[in-house]
Amino acid sequence: MSGATAVELLPEVRQFLASGPLKAVIGGREVESCSGQRFETRDPGSKTVLAEVHAMQPADVDRAVQAAAEAFRITGWARAPANERGVLLHRLADAVEKRKKAFAQLESLDCGKIYAQAEGDVQNFVDTLRYYTSIAQYIQRREALAVSGHEAWSVRFPWGPCGFIFPWNFPFLLIGWGISPALAAGNPVVIKPAEDTPLSALYLARLAKEVGIPDGVINVVPGLGEVAGAALAAHPGLKRMSFTGSPEVGRLVAASCGKNLVPVKLELGGKGAAVVFDDVNVPQTARKLVEAITFHSGQVCCDATRWIVQKSIFDKFVAACVDRLKRVKIGHELDPGSLMGPLINQKQLDRVLGYLRRGREEGAQLVLEGGPAEVPGHDGFYVKPALLAGSLDNVAAREEIFGPVAYLASFDDEQQAVAMANQTDYGLANSVWTNDLSRAYRVAENMLAANSWVNAHNLFPHGVPYGGINKSGMGGGVLSVETLFDYWRSLSVVRPT
Ligand code: NAD
Repeated sequence: MSGATAVELLPEVRQFLASGPLKAVIGGREVESCSGQRFETRDPGSKTVLAEVHAMQPADVDRAVQAAAEAFRITGWARAPANERGVLLHRLADAVEKRKKAFAQLESLDCGKIYAQAEGDVQNFVDTLRYYTSIAQYIQRREALAVSGHEAWSVRFPWGPCGFIFPWNFPFLLIGWGISPALAAGNPVVIKPAEDTPLSALYLARLAKEVGIPDGVINVVPGLGEVAGAALAAHPGLKRMSFTGSPEVGRLVAASCGKNLVPVKLELGGKGAAVVFDDVNVPQTARKLVEAITFHSGQVCCDATRWIVQKSIFDKFVAACVDRLKRVKIGHELDPGSLMGPLINQKQLDRVLGYLRRGREEGAQLVLEGGPAEVPGHDGFYVKPALLAGSLDNVAAREEIFGPVAYLASFDDEQQAVAMANQTDYGLANSVWTNDLSRAYRVAENMLAANSWVNAHNLFPHGVPYGGINKSGMGGGVLSVETLFDYWRSLSVVRPT
């Protein structure tokens, strides 16, 4: 890889990138695309090619699902007690943690995420894997049912091959959220990473082999969405499917799964609100919301993208935000001085700039201009943060932009604030900011979404379900103990006594 970065790449990272064209991992073997087709993955901060990757075709995806089915039948993974699987999964968590810096460099470079944030994502993967592996050991497989006149019990079994399609914004963290409960419950998995960010998934699959996870339990099929993703979603051999990405593609995946009657979980986009009351500490709240909107350059599904602020503090709050946003240091993701990295690609840059233009055309006021950003020495997809203000009917207030852009609107009272927060088709995450906790809890419970946060934005403790309703998702969320139960089928046995 060429292109100047402020940080020296680790030898194992250089070695991994140099081992390209990178192949899929299917049934424990590294496999080329049957068509020979490849795609490039690039550093969004410099547009430099990081590696060439084999683009899996439907026949390759079919082999991966067959490999998972075989692993389910013959490796003992599914039948082993949870504590035996747990030994291997904890070993995998330890191995990832040991190589945290290597994973973080790959992740940072592949998706343009600030290095420190990428390190946090890798640790989150490790924590999630440990969380599910640990609790799976304490859930009874067989449970007696209290039924009059009968002896009855239920038994839990893993389903079989589970498919996963992931987006590019949190490639590794989301793999952890997705596959950890499936693996801990005894299922083999087939992972289709986003074409912009295949590196951490492929590195993980190689490590899984090293620590002794049986062949075929973790398969990774990199490739294009319309080809490899579509083939995985339509595969009749899957027992469960999980998709994280845009609502548009989510609909296609759900339709394919519906044809095969494969249960599907969708984690989709968002247009979250932050409702700010006039009793807050204005500079502190402005700082936290600015951190939220610039976190991974605003490419975060649950971000606070609509800031609904009480009229009496509106001007003061906006001034505090503008001041902070102007000082956000934009730079290459591996540069330790950078606070905000690039967007993922040209398409995303065009999308963000397009929404700024359309928002203005529909009458929104441009409070902070945004636009392309120059980063000396780096030709990447950099953009400045922007603020719009006006009516929530505006296109920039209704649709997911997925960039460092917040839309401001003001309210008079609590009832109006809740109505404004609920003026959206999405239902992922909102936050409320006030020192009055009874008001905070009332508002939190009345906002229509699956997650409400109080005096914070972006909270994901393990054990709290995280998911979306309406246009933001369906089929149950992630991160809680219930997700583990999604990955077991239940059989009941009854005998008259
Ligand atoms: P996307 O929907 O374009 O792509 C997601 C994945 O689907 C990629 O792996 C892609 O290759 C694949 N894909 C594309 N076309 C496909 C098809 N026809 N069939 C099957 N798979 C196909 O989304 P993106 O641009 O990668 O990610 C951004 C979106 O993801 C945003 O809407 C964001 O809000 C959402 N997201 C949601 C969550 C959540 O937890 N709710 C988390 C992260 C991202």
